[in-house]
Amino acid sequence: MLSFYNTLTRKKEAFKPLNDKEAGLYTCGPTVYNYAHLGNLRTYLFEDILKRVLINNGYAVKHVMNITDVGHLTSDADEGEDKIETSALKEKKTVWEIAEFYTKSFKQSLADLNISEPDIWCKATDHIQEQIAWIKKLEEKGFTYKISDGLYFDTSKFGGYEKLRGQKTSDMKEGARVEKNTEKKNPSDFALWKFSPQDSKRQMEWNSPWGKGFPGWHLECSVMAQKYLGETFDLHCGGIDHIPTHHTNEIAQAEAVTEKPFVNYWLHGEFLVIGKDVRMGKSEGNFITLNTVKEKNVNPLAYRYLVLGTHYRKKLNFTWEALQAAQNALDNLYALVANLGEPKIGCAEFEQKFSEAINDDLNTPKSLAIVWDLLKSDYPNEAKKASLLAFDKIIGLNLRQAKPIAVPKEIKELADKREQARQAKDFTTADKLRDEINKAGFKVEDTLAGPVIKK
Ligand code: AMP
Ligand code: ZN
Repeated sequence: MLSFYNTLTRKKEAFKPLNDKEAGLYTCGPTVYNYAHLGNLRTYLFEDILKRVLINNGYAVKHVMNITDVGHLTSDADEGEDKIETSALKEKKTVWEIAEFYTKSFKQSLADLNISEPDIWCKATDHIQEQIAWIKKLEEKGFTYKISDGLYFDTSKFGGYEKLRGQKTSDMKEGARVEKNTEKKNPSDFALWKFSPQDSKRQMEWNSPWGKGFPGWHLECSVMAQKYLGETFDLHCGGIDHIPTHHTNEIAQAEAVTEKPFVNYWLHGEFLVIGKDVRMGKSEGNFITLNTVKEKNVNPLAYRYLVLGTHYRKKLNFTWEALQAAQNALDNLYALVANLGEPKIGCAEFEQKFSEAINDDLNTPKSLAIVWDLLKSDYPNEAKKASLLAFDKIIGLNLRQAKPIAVPKEIKELADKREQARQAKDFTTADKLRDEINKAGFKVEDTLAGPVIKK
C-alpha cells in the first residue's frame, strides 16, 4: 500500500488517484533571482523521490513545475521589491537575463543531483493572459477589491481559508508582518495584480483591465497547475514555509472560481537547517550552493545520500562533516556494488522490505538501511546486485555506474588475512597488515557490510 502524510487532513492516508494509474503532480519551482541553495534542493530531492515512487508503483506521472520569473516580492505578504528586478539592478543585467541565467543554473543543479526534470516547465511570464483571465473570473464572483497598490483577494469571502494551515491569521506569528498594508480589508488578503509604481519604470509590466502592473506571486501556481493538470488534481508539494501563505492562497483563489477541491494530497518537506537550528535561506544569508559543494570536490550525489538519510518531514541539520561522512559512505557503497558482478534474479525478501519502507510515506532512511542490510546478507552477489539496481531506480545514486577498482591479488590477500585476524580479535596482526596495505597505496575501510578496499 502506498501512503503519504497529507498536510490538508493532518494524517497519513492511502494514495487514491483521481484516474486509475495516473498521478498529476505539481511542485512549486524556484524564483530565479539567485542560485538555488542546498535547502531548496532538499525540497526538490524529496519531490524527486515522491515522483520515482509513484512511477515505481505503476502510475503514469504528469509532473508540472513552474519557474517564477516575476512578482515574487521580498516579503510573501506582497510588500517590498520584486526579487528579480532587484537582482537585475544589482547585477546590471536585464530581468530576462537574470531569469535565464538562474533557470539554467537551477537545471544544472537538478542534473547534478540526478533529479529528473518535470514533463512540463511553465514560466509565469508566459502565462500573463491566463492569469488576467483568472482574476476576471474572481472579480465576477465578487472576491476582489482594489486599493492604491493593486487588486486584492478578499479572504473573508472564502469559507475555509485556513483549512490547509489549520490556524487563523490572528493566531499566527506572521500576522504582525502582514498587517503592514493598512488599506487591506483583512490582514491575510493578498495581491492578485500589483500596479507598477508611479515614480519608476519596471522592466516587466503588462496592461490589464485594472491598470499597468504584474501578477501577484501566488496566482501563477493556481492558474498554471489547473491549466496543465485540471481543476482538481492529485498531488501538490513544496517546503513547509509554503503552507501558511503561498499554498493557502493558491487554494483560495483556485477554489473560489471552480468550487471544487483544488488538490487531494498536499505534501510538504521540512527545512534544511544550519548552525543553531536556523533555516538555510537566501534572506538568512547562510546559504550554501551546490557549486560550493563541487568546488570542494564533493560529489553532488553525496548530498543526495545525506538527504536520503533523514525523513523528509524531519529537520536536517547541515554540516560539512556530515556531508563528508555521506561521501565516504557513498564511495564505500560504490566499491561494494561494483564488486558484485552481473545482476541476476533479485532477493524477493529484501525487495518486499524496501517497497514497504519507501511506500510508507517515503521512508528513505529505512530504505537506505535496507540497502546496507542486503549487502551484509548471505544472498548471492548477483541477486544482491539485481535488487540494488532495482532500489536505485528510486534512491537515484547511480549505482550502475560504480566501477570496480583494480586491486592486485596480493593486496586482496593481505586484506583477507587482516579480516581473519580482526575476526579472531588479533588486533596487533590486523594493524600490521593494514600498515602493509597502506604502504602499497591502498586502504581498507570497515563498513556495515564488511571491509572495502580503496586506492
Ligand atoms: P523559493 O525559490 O524561495 O520559492 O524556494 C523553492 C523551494 O525551496 C520551496 O519549495 C521552498 O519551500 C523550499 N525551501 C526554501 N528554503 C528551504 C530550506 N531551508 N529547506 C528546505 N526547503 C526549503
Ligand atoms: Zn507555488
